[in-house]
Amino acid sequence: MNTDELIAQLQFFRDIGVDSLSTVGEPRHSVTVEAQNDNVMTLESIRHEIGDCQRCKLAPKRTNIVFGSGNPNAELVFVGEAPGYDEDQQGLPFVGRAGQLLTKIIESINLKREDVYICNVLKCRPPENRNPEPDEVATCNPFLKKQLATIRPKIVCCLGTFAAQTVLQTPASISKLRGRFIDMDGIRVIATFHPAYLLRSPDKKREVWEDMKQIRAELFRLQA
Ligand code: URA
Repeated sequence: MNTDELIAQLQFFRDIGVDSLSTVGEPRHSVTVEAQNDNVMTLESIRHEIGDCQRCKLAPKRTNIVFGSGNPNAELVFVGEAPGYDEDQQGLPFVGRAGQLLTKIIESINLKREDVYICNVLKCRPPENRNPEPDEVATCNPFLKKQLATIRPKIVCCLGTFAAQTVLQTPASISKLRGRFIDMDGIRVIATFHPAYLLRSPDKKREVWEDMKQIRAELFRLQA
């Protein structure tokens, strides 16, 4: 990275509210979670740990826990917000209308749904699809971190405000965050608009297409 790029990156961090950066040895944005007792952490073991979760107030109203689905060795992981009605019914992420659009978005960069891994910040549906609340995110986020640490994808694409703010640990808006990569502990993280938002604002698809082209190019670059 040359000096101009470094300055631009630092200005971006300042603009999105990141006021200090970690030095070597003290990662600020750590997604690495050590497996306890030298056990090898697998997606199955994380799912097992979640169990019949009663850790937060979403538990009594959910039908199914929506853990995540897809390729456990995926190079690209999509992180959404929380299950909706269809996901809660089926126990699978992004299977409703927004999910159908996400499938098309994935296919737009010549990948199949089975190639990637898809999960959410929250594993249970908030009533009436309301926004996730801070205590719910705080309770569920450790499991997302473990999923990412286990899959170790090259790229994480955050879908929408809540995923971007949670993964990147910043209060900045999705408009500020989208469209560029941020390094987090060896994973390239990018945010884009949520497919449900695209259903309401189809004019934003152009930006998402730009973001997807960046993902495609970065995957090529990282595979080279
Ligand atoms: N919206 C999300 O954020 N996640 C899903 O799984 C479905 C809709």
